[in-house]
Amino acid sequence: MLYDLAIIGAGTAGLSAAIYAARAGLSVLVFEGAMYGGQIIVSPTVENYPGIGMISGADFANNLYAQAEQLGVSFAFETVTALTNAPDKKVLTTDMASYEAKTLILATGAKNRQLGLAGEEKLTGRGISYCATCDGSFFQGKIVAVMGGGNTALEDAEVLSKLCAKVYLIHRRSEFRGEAAQVERLKKLENVEFILDSTIVELQGDTALTGVVVEHLPTKQTRLLALDGLFVAIGQVPQNSAFADLVQTDSHGYIVAGEDCRTNLAGVFAAGDGRTKTVRQLVTAAADGAVAALAAAEYIRSL
Ligand code: NAP
Repeated sequence: MLYDLAIIGAGTAGLSAAIYAARAGLSVLVFEGAMYGGQIIVSPTVENYPGIGMISGADFANNLYAQAEQLGVSFAFETVTALTNAPDKKVLTTDMASYEAKTLILATGAKNRQLGLAGEEKLTGRGISYCATCDGSFFQGKIVAVMGGGNTALEDAEVLSKLCAKVYLIHRRSEFRGEAAQVERLKKLENVEFILDSTIVELQGDTALTGVVVEHLPTKQTRLLALDGLFVAIGQVPQNSAFADLVQTDSHGYIVAGEDCRTNLAGVFAAGDGRTKTVRQLVTAAADGAVAALAAAEYIRSL
């Protein structure tokens, strides 16, 4: 069967694209190598999706999946291992079979870079977060730390300073990678303290994070920091390496595509966190899905 649209990735962008495409009358096949839902399934509570007061990440993902299924979207829980592209036909090979589609949306997302410390996965959602915008409000009046020195870490520290009693900003070098103007703003905030040339070497807490051990790298001296929350902001890793030979990516590995989600390849679109963009949120992933799906429908009409 030649599907109208293949979508790789069943996160928020991919499932939103599937819903919009199915409602536009396209036959849709979604590939997912793991569990559907993407990054949001680990968020205990989502409070920033417009129109939904509060929902768990897992419920949000389940709702998206159920909505796509009800609309007749097909799913292949298989990993796409190879892709060939022609303007009128994309051939996707998985570990189990080969599939064909007229158009393709790449929605494989990005993963937050992890510290790689023992207990990190267990404590994620139990004191450790990778998104201050999403989870900051759960730490009102608490003591938190942000790890990282880029713009995300600086922004997170500023956001959290308005909510939390105390914010430590831990960075492995003495110079920040992020904007100097923002660093200057942070220096003026009384509840923000920089811990520079330092890194976290141990996470403490069994059922919830209670603190971290921080090492001052030049002296190797360690200190225990009691914390209610830790926001890890050490960059993201896009999951696009399988397509990097085919589609244009930037120096960080993100697929080059503007707000219209069009890539350099005719009939191939990019949606969600794996695309070059500045705001990576649930709502922008969903928006990308809608834009890419409708662009795919328009492309099919032009064939
Ligand atoms: P980033 O710029 O790649 O910064 C990552 C930071 O994490 C760096 O300071 C890096 O340290 C540190 N780091 C990396 N791996 C580490 C590890 N294993 N342990 C400890 N520290 C580690 O990532 P980002 O801040 O998420 O920003 C991503 C992109 O989005 C950037 O281009 C950024 O400018 C952009 N952005 C823009 C805005 C804005 O314009 N408003 C807001 C947010 C993000 P080093 O500095 O030592 O390498």
